[in-house]
Amino acid sequence: MLPPLRNPYAGPVDYAELAQQVPALSPFLRPSRDGRQTIDFRDDKAIRALNAALLQRDFALSLDLPEDRLCPAVPSRLEYVLFVLQLALLTSDKPANSTPPSLVGLDIGTGASAIYPLLAVRTLEPSSEASSSRNTYPSSSSFVTMLATDIDAHSLEYARRNVTQTGLSGRISVFEAEPEGALFPQKVLDSFDSIDFMMCNPPFYSSQDEIDATLAAKELEPFAKCTGAENEMVTPGGEVAFVSRMVEESHKLGKDKIRWFTSLLGKHSSIGPLVELLKAKQILNYHVHALPPHGHTVRWVLSWSLQDRRFPAELLEATSSIPSQGSASSSTLRFPLGRFASPAVSSSSYYTPLQRSHAEEIAVCRAREALEEVLRELCTANAGAQEGANGAGDDGRAAKRRRVSGGGSHLTPSALEWRWDEPPVAECERTQELFVRAWRNVWSRKARRGGPASTALDVAEPARPLLELRVRFERAGPHAHLEGEPDPPQQVKLTARWVRGRDADCAAFTGLWGFVTRKVGEKLKARGGEADTAPEQEKGNGNADWLKRL
Ligand code: SAH
Repeated sequence: MLPPLRNPYAGPVDYAELAQQVPALSPFLRPSRDGRQTIDFRDDKAIRALNAALLQRDFALSLDLPEDRLCPAVPSRLEYVLFVLQLALLTSDKPANSTPPSLVGLDIGTGASAIYPLLAVRTLEPSSEASSSRNTYPSSSSFVTMLATDIDAHSLEYARRNVTQTGLSGRISVFEAEPEGALFPQKVLDSFDSIDFMMCNPPFYSSQDEIDATLAAKELEPFAKCTGAENEMVTPGGEVAFVSRMVEESHKLGKDKIRWFTSLLGKHSSIGPLVELLKAKQILNYHVHALPPHGHTVRWVLSWSLQDRRFPAELLEATSSIPSQGSASSSTLRFPLGRFASPAVSSSSYYTPLQRSHAEEIAVCRAREALEEVLRELCTANAGAQEGANGAGDDGRAAKRRRVSGGGSHLTPSALEWRWDEPPVAECERTQELFVRAWRNVWSRKARRGGPASTALDVAEPARPLLELRVRFERAGPHAHLEGEPDPPQQVKLTARWVRGRDADCAAFTGLWGFVTRKVGEKLKARGGEADTAPEQEKGNGNADWLKRL
């Protein structure tokens, strides 16, 4: 499982307490209306002192920042760092228990502060290196190595100084990029075989006029005006042009070098054109995530990948796994994201027919059994065809697959493997998840007719599964149970999340899920559950599901 990435800013900052811990903040304290202490957020010096104090107390970082460059707001910068680290860890190929499952990240336009690399490195600090005096963030066994670029000589000088004086030059490398050159310069790409994630806080605006207009409309952080230099705020064509370049370069670069490309977006209006560009490039493994707002500023992260690890459901289901000061729902209502959902369905829910006369846990148990049976039948029915198809060419692949699935799994020598996250409990009381891995398409009509699997779509590369999904079983019936009455009918909700597979295999995912749920429904009906409603099939994608929940 994912190491818990704790956010020190999950609750409101106590400025008086902070000033006690970091006395340099004291001169900036002001009484607030409710009688507590605060600072004047219109005062550039006060904001600098506040962020310096947060960096010092919570990350043991003491930075040297020029007066004429952005002073990064630590809590909101950390939101993006936590998001991207989780994205990389949740989709890592390295086993979660390998020591350590280290990551490589790349920050484009790191600025004078090198804030993202520094926060990332401190967030995933191996326990052996974490100072025992700091306990506001967890030490973990993972660590991250960061690469960082910028084009601005003045910012580069400070970024390098900040990395060196914090003693992190072994973890962070700063590179100079050319304004007209590649956003992912070759010398940076050459420094590691593969990079787990790329992040960027691009210049948002196309001109000073645009900044002034936005300021007038109060969409910009009020204090950014006095701290951001032109290179930090303005780029020809604004953030749409900048991130479009990134999409173009990622497409040319191909799938092997960088797993996740991500960029912060400062304007809601930028999301549409960039999503359209991704679709035009046939990159469907993308997602738009609203960061929990700090203050009044709403920011989004656009993520995309050319690899087959799908955007993780854990991050679809919440704006952040970290509770935050801001209210995510108000920004989501003001800036809905539903229409930017990827057409490559990432999750889909199914409700079993009503099962009469069963207690809730029995209903869950029956649904689980029915699903395992369907999978088993698919394997058995296809075993003959598979022999025929693979025959001599199978040279130990099946054995290798058996090894992949590990102990405790239900092992099949054929196309499908599955295992429970935790061994099923007899009473089936808890919500449970089944992990399913498909090596070949054995559910298509053609495969079921017994034809050898021969098309590219049917057979995945030997080392790479065709699909991986997780199926969650939950009680779903809103059926009140009156004491003394017979057990009311129960319904179980099955949700499939697509974990792995190429964009081109989205139809295989929906096909498998459609087939399996149809068969589960038939089995449950046949078993005497009086189904008096038709099973509901609700096709979803993360965004829509997530919006509904809010
Ligand atoms: N990451 C920092 C700074 C963001 S401002 C923070 O979040 O505070 C944007 C930065 O991108 C500026 O430092 C600017 O110099 C840099 N930049 C602009 N064009 C760039 C390019 N082509 N390659 C790398 N960096 C660039």
